[in-house]
Amino acid sequence: MTRAKELPPQWPGAYEDLIKEWQGLERAQVRQLTLSAGGRPVFALHYGEKEMVSPSANFNAAVASKQASAFPYRYKRQRPSVLLLAVIHGGEHEGLFGLQSLMKLLETNTDLYGREWPELVELAQRCRLSLVPVVNPDGYVRFTPGSGKLLSETENARFVTGSFPDGSIPIWPTNKAVHPFPKGGKGFLGAYYNDNGINIQHDEFFRPMADETKAILDLVYDEWPNATMHFHTCPHGSCFFDADYTPIEHFNFASETAQAFSQRMQARGIPDGPLPERNYPSEAAGKPFNLISAVYHATGSYSLLFETELGSDFCQHELSFEEIHDTQLIAVSAFLKTTLENFEERKRAEA
Ligand SMILES: [Zn+2]
Repeated sequence: MTRAKELPPQWPGAYEDLIKEWQGLERAQVRQLTLSAGGRPVFALHYGEKEMVSPSANFNAAVASKQASAFPYRYKRQRPSVLLLAVIHGGEHEGLFGLQSLMKLLETNTDLYGREWPELVELAQRCRLSLVPVVNPDGYVRFTPGSGKLLSETENARFVTGSFPDGSIPIWPTNKAVHPFPKGGKGFLGAYYNDNGINIQHDEFFRPMADETKAILDLVYDEWPNATMHFHTCPHGSCFFDADYTPIEHFNFASETAQAFSQRMQARGIPDGPLPERNYPSEAAGKPFNLISAVYHATGSYSLLFETELGSDFCQHELSFEEIHDTQLIAVSAFLKTTLENFEERKRAEA
């Protein structure tokens, strides 16, 4: 396979066009959460009825109480609340590609390629779904190529993680050693960041620097999601990762989701990546307390990172755009299936 020359017609387009599409959806409730650093609106889309729950305590106090009754959102609802977050890093449009197709499925019963996904639709209809398709619109519009599959590895690195004021391109993860990312000189602000150079994944969660981060945390406190999935993109096999600094029960949820995903990927014939491992705190360097961990610690939502393979000629596996698309919907299917099984088990145990 050689490098892709152009994006497929199904690929997400200009941000203004996406907003018009979302506002034209018939079944979704669309609302603006905040404005980005660059003044662009960040939207949430909701499918299914919101069920209010009134926990008797905030999450960390509820944990300390050891009382199941302090977690009513786990079992008093009729259906679980699920939050899907994409384009946290502006150069990673693959998750959005999947969410655009999920919206089309929920509206018209066929995906962006005109195919049906009956299991996914049935699972989605059993949940309250909240989608933030573009958490970081500033980075999204800065990533003008749309997909790293059109770029060389170096070009992609420059677009995604930027270049410092002296013109040097940091290699991931050394781009995180200076944060907020500096602007000016011969530098270029990579799509990772909002217009103030904030990497939302590594914001200050006790005192957020970015309004986009505050908006996501507000949404989490408003929805009390049972489970949250964070879409990112990587150069190695697609896989789910557990959030760090969570209990073993959380890791078990991540493992079950990852196994369900891997089985479906094998059945579809798309290569994937490893299953999650619980290997800290033995790692000497420790692990970052990032947005994924923060979502868990805010309200107790299961919170998983999903890394999809970019599928370019410099990645572990080359994937077609259609395979990248299917990977997103397969991942959402696995995530919803595990969430629903877990929810129903808790309802039985805790009611
Ligand atoms: Zn990312």
